[in-house]
Amino acid sequence: MGAVREFFDSLLLRELVKGLALTGRYAFARKITIQYPEEKTPMSPRFRGLHALRRYPNGEERCIACKLCEAVCPALAITIESDQREDGTRRTTRYDIDLTKCIFCGLCEESCPVDSIVETHILEYHGEQRGDLNYTKPMLLAIGDRYEKEIAAARAADAQYR
Ligand code: SF4
Ligand code: SF4
Repeated sequence: MGAVREFFDSLLLRELVKGLALTGRYAFARKITIQYPEEKTPMSPRFRGLHALRRYPNGEERCIACKLCEAVCPALAITIESDQREDGTRRTTRYDIDLTKCIFCGLCEESCPVDSIVETHILEYHGEQRGDLNYTKPMLLAIGDRYEKEIAAARAADAQYR
């Protein structure tokens, strides 16, 4: 009986018709393919991309060199050295993040008491040599300065859940 059904199925091209029907159904359905990089998918305010160091509105850097981020980093990606300034406050003299070690866990951001080190929405960056992914304090501050508006907006959007 099975052999007879198979014979008529192949004679009537049933499998082919079924396949074409499926193709036809999806040909007119809403497209979900995104034309990256011209088009982008929505991004959560919690997205953990490239790091940045932030400043207060008066230009003073937020980081107080408490080293909590360095201590909590599971990948040992952060290296901090600090010194006391003439006004008695402590600030970092070196703040490096080795992005070849970083696993983007976000623990540095979570541990920071002054919202200084943050992970931004930036995901399109690269390095051509290993050293290019060693981000220094001036580089991290420059990212913070450039994207402060977006960083502040993302943190404000997420504030009620923190
Ligand atoms: S995101 Fe995680 S792994 Fe990367 S520097 Fe921060 S604490 Fe370390
Ligand atoms: S970035 Fe934040 S947690 Fe890290 S040393 Fe500075 S103040 Fe402390």
